Amino acid sequence: MIVNLISDTITKPSFKMLEAMFSAPVGDDVFKEDPSVNELEQDLALLFGKEAALFFPSGTMTNQTAIKIHTQPGEQIICDHFSHIFNYEGGGVSFNSGVSCKMISGDRGRITAEQIMESINPPDFYHSPKTSLVCLENTTNKGGGAIYDLNEIVKIRELCDKKKLGLHLDGARLWNALEVTKENPKQYGELFDTISLCLSKGLGCPVGSVLVGSKKNIKKALRIRKVFGGGMRQAGYLAAAGSYALKYHRSDLNNDHKKAKEIASTLKNCLYVNEINPVETNIIIFSLKKQYDEVSFVEKLKNKNILIMSLGKGKLRIVTHRDYTDDQHSYLLKTLPKIEYYA
Ligand SMILES: *Cc1c(COP(=O)(O)O)cnc(C)c1O
Repeated sequence: MIVNLISDTITKPSFKMLEAMFSAPVGDDVFKEDPSVNELEQDLALLFGKEAALFFPSGTMTNQTAIKIHTQPGEQIICDHFSHIFNYEGGGVSFNSGVSCKMISGDRGRITAEQIMESINPPDFYHSPKTSLVCLENTTNKGGGAIYDLNEIVKIRELCDKKKLGLHLDGARLWNALEVTKENPKQYGELFDTISLCLSKGLGCPVGSVLVGSKKNIKKALRIRKVFGGGMRQAGYLAAAGSYALKYHRSDLNNDHKKAKEIASTLKNCLYVNEINPVETNIIIFSLKKQYDEVSFVEKLKNKNILIMSLGKGKLRIVTHRDYTDDQHSYLLKTLPKIEYYA
């Protein structure tokens, strides 16, 4: 038994999900003739109160497409210094859109309207890049699954309207946030110009991400997706996994959150732990006391068939997911307090 807590992307489709994929009606999605893709896109547009949606092979491509929609080369976008779009998309913002990032040091990946206000370059000052887009992330990845306060997003929207800036949400794990806050997805649809949503994280699909937005923006996205090489043919087999997960897996995210909180409480009592970030969803970020080295700690867990990730700079990450079983959970909770004795 390997307990893999590296990421919530490691899940494999259940038999029932595979059945839904097997039996999906399909067509050529590049001609927009795949009924299963069209259905998923329509359902998600409706769920978020947006006019349209577009299916993508990855969250990276969805975010990169959104940034391309909202910007021109030479412009600048505003994001948190922890953001996925800056740290983990291979420099795509500069490669694909030719824009730079103005980084804000937020609270576990979350930035405020006030911080954004201070980061907007004066539009008439032609020496500095023109600010055109604000990107938020909810929940935050590198910030340890932190959830945004919707009231802050309302303020950010007002600021973006006033300053004529686009507002994009990297909602790779928005499902986790919504499961906790019980907010209506339409509240998010109202506030953002575009939202990218991952199906291959907590929802457990093998592949897939969706961008929601206005008809005009999704029309632009269709062209950009083609340019990025993301036009897929019988993609309905993949979209069917997404429709299945939206129906049957969303409420299961609660289990991941509950287990994450239990892991955090166990870690709190482990002598080697220095600090644990507040756990709001399915990500636990913690650090070790000075005398413990994180690389050898990860190695010790590995010897016990438990896989976790080192984030560098003394930080470690555990992510719970739907393939992390109750038995694995009991084993982990039992093993964690004993780890230091294996030194
Ligand atoms: C996973 C993730 C993405 C998309 O990643 P892909 O691996 O390309 O699907 C985007 N943003 C955040 C915050 C993520 O965690």
